[in-house]
Amino acid sequence: MTATADSLAQPLLAQLLDLEIGKAYTREPLARHCSWHIGGPADVLVEPESVAQVARLVRFARRHAIPLLTIGQGTNLLFDDAGVRGIVLKIGARMADLRIEGNRILAEAGVWVPHLARQAARAGLGGLEHIIGIPGTLGGLVLMNGGSRRRGIGENVRRVWVIDPEGNERILGPEDCAFSYRHSALQEMGVIVVRAELECAPGDPRAIRRAMVCDLRERRLKFPRKEPNCGSVFLSTAEMHAGVGPPGKIIEEAGLKGTRIGGAEVSPRHANFIVNCGGASAADVLRLIAHIRQVVHERIGFDLRCEVRYVDPHARLMPADQAPRAAFRT
Ligand SMILES: Cc1cc2nc3c(=O)[nH]c(=O)nc-3n(C[C@H](O)[C@H](O)[C@H](O)COP(=O)(O)OP(=O)(O)OC[C@H]3O[C@@H](n4cnc5c(N)ncnc54)[C@H](O)[C@@H]3O)c2cc1C
Repeated sequence: MTATADSLAQPLLAQLLDLEIGKAYTREPLARHCSWHIGGPADVLVEPESVAQVARLVRFARRHAIPLLTIGQGTNLLFDDAGVRGIVLKIGARMADLRIEGNRILAEAGVWVPHLARQAARAGLGGLEHIIGIPGTLGGLVLMNGGSRRRGIGENVRRVWVIDPEGNERILGPEDCAFSYRHSALQEMGVIVVRAELECAPGDPRAIRRAMVCDLRERRLKFPRKEPNCGSVFLSTAEMHAGVGPPGKIIEEAGLKGTRIGGAEVSPRHANFIVNCGGASAADVLRLIAHIRQVVHERIGFDLRCEVRYVDPHARLMPADQAPRAAFRT
């Protein structure tokens, strides 16, 4: 794949690489940074090691009007086949300190969620059992108000440290974050989560661990295990459950399990998962999403909405069902 005319100009790239911003890679395949293993190259991918480096990078990108996208483990993202013309800021293992003080956990955004859950269990802190099987980072989890069993991490969040679009550090409380089902106001603010403080309830470490083992066992039985995927593709709200049922059931009843477009397939194990059977492109996934939505709409008149977010070549994010038609071509 060749870069478009909009790629970062060489002098800017040189300036960026001269900044103290952590580890930087040029023309880095985004397929290496998401759980679907799909996506073209980013002009630059940076892995910062400190909050100061994140702030410096935000100010640089703003000064030069360079598109900037923050990601964690890429477990909820579909990158375009053309990649991203701009900077991808990956907050992961290089920013993953975690400290426990009494009932509170102070963790950097790059902490891996299953590790966070296990540390909480070890310290006898309950309330995070439902996140043990979520393979993303704390930053992504807070932004998405992720969770399972109809719960969200927002229930435990007491403070969130962010870098705002001007490059300033701010501390926000739960009232600023306005957590709701798989949503937080942080998404509209365009801030980068760098750290969060969580409050947990004291509990019996063995009981907490048992609940986690149980959750993981259930997931292993229900979800695809080997093929790359992005978790649940479609949103599953309480109103939807009451009205038409969960998306997996609706899609299965429409006879779509095993439907395949290119390398993308509706998982035969769980119909709300799309798996990459090998060589799937973003266009394959988007076409399959459009097909599922159309069949379901024709069958029961319901519009499925995506939880998974598509990233366009200008580093803009949107629910995958809102991807423009241009993205359907490889
Ligand atoms: C097998 C599997 C099972 C899953 N199960 C669940 C589940 O049970 N419940 C659930 O809620 N999700 C689930 N997911 C989806 C996903 O793991 C979560 O949404 C997770 O919280 C995303 O974290 P991430 O680090 O991968 O974020 P990414 O996918 O990298 O990014 C997701 C969003 O967060 C933003 N973001 C990431 N980091 C930051 C940051 N530091 N600051 C600001 N914005 C940031 C990105 O810009 C993007 O908008 C599952 C995924 C898989 C593959």
